[in-house]
Amino acid sequence: MKERPSFPARLDFLAGKPNSKRPTPRGVPVQGIGLDSRAVRMNMVHQLAGQGIADPLVLSAMGSVERHRFVDSALVNQAYEDTSLPIGLGQTISKPGVVARMAELLRNGASGRLGRVLEIGTGCGYQAAVLSLLAHEVYSIERLRGLHDKARDNLRNLRLANLHLLFGDGMAGYAKGAPYAAIIAAAGGEAVPQAWVDQLAVGGRLVAPVATGAACAGRQALVVIDKTAQGLRQTVLEAVHFVPLKSGVA
Ligand code: SAH
Repeated sequence: MKERPSFPARLDFLAGKPNSKRPTPRGVPVQGIGLDSRAVRMNMVHQLAGQGIADPLVLSAMGSVERHRFVDSALVNQAYEDTSLPIGLGQTISKPGVVARMAELLRNGASGRLGRVLEIGTGCGYQAAVLSLLAHEVYSIERLRGLHDKARDNLRNLRLANLHLLFGDGMAGYAKGAPYAAIIAAAGGEAVPQAWVDQLAVGGRLVAPVATGAACAGRQALVVIDKTAQGLRQTVLEAVHFVPLKSGVA
């Protein structure tokens, strides 16, 4: 087990005194979010810490990526609530709590940045931006052209040189970038595609929502697969609700 910093140390990148019980700053106007988004985001980070997210790099990344820039202007007021929001074409941006939880699982207590990471399901590009702060290189695939283009627009000004957006069917992974230190899926399938497991480095970790029980019941759980020199180790975690993983492009 790697040593983790004690609780106060986790939040020392935040301005002011760390206190996970800090109340919601009701007076903070979210409307003029460009000016005040940092305060609202810091509140979100405190809530994530209160929910048990402890990885300092994850909290720091969640505190710096401006989620309100990835949602439609009509939804900006909700950008820092722990809720998924529509991003068009029937898809959703994941809840901040889920993005942080999956990122923490993916990092598995690593002290520095991860190596190469593959994300399946770019969507609006929010999680990809978070991942780009947690890894040396990120490849993110999206099967819907409209969202691939939207993510490119959303991310343009951020100039994240280590983030590569790809248009294609992520079921096949992206062999050119393999092997990956980590693979994360933002859409849930019946099973984890073999290509993802094949493209995972030994010592690497995959985190994905996977259907549990009858396919038509729509129940999913978060699954972690660790690829070790001895083979694969699978852990099934909490129930989640993601959009379906689909094959082909559109
Ligand atoms: N991480 C995203 C969440 C997007 S929702 C964000 O931060 O916005 C999941 C996305 O997965 C959807 O955009 C959906 O189109 C995409 N998706 C589903 N199946 C896919 C596949 N086989 N390959 C690539 N993307 C896929």
